[in-house]
Amino acid sequence: MSLFKRSNDIEVSLSPEFDREYEPGQTPARSGIYRCRGCGCEVVALGSQPFPAVSHPKHSLNQGAVRWRLAVAAQNEPH
Ligand SMILES: [Zn+2]
Repeated sequence: MSLFKRSNDIEVSLSPEFDREYEPGQTPARSGIYRCRGCGCEVVALGSQPFPAVSHPKHSLNQGAVRWRLAVAAQNEPH
């Protein structure tokens, strides 16, 4: 689970990009923190580059394949 300290650093988004799942090796549309749907581990990925090859815990059969889903998106425009 991602952590944060100041609630005004983040806000809820209803963007469909948060529902999209990516396989290892794919390139995500947004930079941010992605969480594995199988085991819950997290990784930081850049929107312009394939997911980094991290040492990933081995999944059980129940956990299925590694699927990354956006948890926290980074924004590079000032607000
Ligand atoms: Zn996993």
